[in-house]
Amino acid sequence: MLKTPSKNWDLFSEIATLKDKSHYRRMPEVSGIPGRIINIDGRNVLNFSSNNYLGLAGHPQILEAFSKAVRTYGAGSTASRLIAGNSPCHRQLEEFIANWKKTEAALVFGSGYQANLGILTTLTNREDLVISDELNHASIIDGCRLSKAKISVYRHLDLNSASDALKQEGFRRKLLITESVFSMDGDHAPLKELSNLCMEHDAFMVVDEAHATGIYGPSGQGLCSKLGAIPDVQMGTLGKAAGVSGAYVAGSRSLIDLLVNKARSFIFTTAHSPAVSEAALEALKIIVSPEGDRRRSMLIGNVRRMDEMLQRVLPHRNFSCHIKPIHVGPSDLTMRMSKACLEQGLFVHGIRFPSVREGAARLRLTLMSDHTTEDLQKASRIIEAVFTAHANC
Ligand SMILES: *Cc1c(COP(=O)(O)O)cnc(C)c1O
Repeated sequence: MLKTPSKNWDLFSEIATLKDKSHYRRMPEVSGIPGRIINIDGRNVLNFSSNNYLGLAGHPQILEAFSKAVRTYGAGSTASRLIAGNSPCHRQLEEFIANWKKTEAALVFGSGYQANLGILTTLTNREDLVISDELNHASIIDGCRLSKAKISVYRHLDLNSASDALKQEGFRRKLLITESVFSMDGDHAPLKELSNLCMEHDAFMVVDEAHATGIYGPSGQGLCSKLGAIPDVQMGTLGKAAGVSGAYVAGSRSLIDLLVNKARSFIFTTAHSPAVSEAALEALKIIVSPEGDRRRSMLIGNVRRMDEMLQRVLPHRNFSCHIKPIHVGPSDLTMRMSKACLEQGLFVHGIRFPSVREGAARLRLTLMSDHTTEDLQKASRIIEAVFTAHANC
């Protein structure tokens, strides 16, 4: 092995600090197709920590569309969309999304992280004000920072706090951004009321539907459509409920035109492969079909059953959502409890800083349409046992 030249950067002590605080992370290895059962680090366990909410990541129709497109278009796109990486698959996926979201146009990004960076840096600069929920995702926070706009953070879901922030004057543009279903808490933003506030203050509204796409609203358009809110920009991912990868932005034709021309996270990156677009398109076709309705109602049924079971086991804030945070507090205790669950055959990930604020660590349980009632019973039994065993830690 090559000897690393010694520089006085002291990476080792930085890692040691992470370990001290129980903030050190490693990457568990997943083999095979992750479904309600996941093979993690060589063991099959019950999966309650996946964003594959509708079980589409292993859907035979999607796998078939994927492999057929690989044979037709090759493995990779070979360039950015603006050079030679654009294919009919990308266009068809975007047309489908615009039609589904009832917007003029849509644009697909390599990931949700890139999409949020692209939206925020294209629409705002140092002359502008961005109003952001305090629990917004890291990709939104990074987009805000990169935009150089003034950032005004409002209290989580708090309309008064958002309204106060919106009252500030002297900016070229004001833009309010929120998640619809919050990724670490499973609670829902009051989108209709926020959209009225934005209307009142002539602010752009951007909604991140990462965890709602495919799940809420008629044919799974998301929480905006369920609540009747029409934001200026709707963003969502294709790697969570849709089970593939990538993300979309849907809105007006001029919004999309501007993103194509100015979003650096769109321009300066190789397009995802045409096969990824084909697979995502197939996933969306399933999401809007009667099968999608069936999967959504199975998921909703599971949410209701799990709420009942967990309510008996431990008191927790119940948002009746497929994302169920079970608050623990300290990072080290959370990670020990997650490990204890895994040892008993249940994969439920511990979430800690910097994904959530320090001292607010939790087990984040996520449900799938594919979970059986026995799966839910087994999971709640294990959680109860682990909470009892760690009650006085
Ligand atoms: C996962 C997530 C993203 C990022 O999407 P990726 O496609 O995984 O990069 C953005 N916003 C929210 C709220 C998310 O949960």
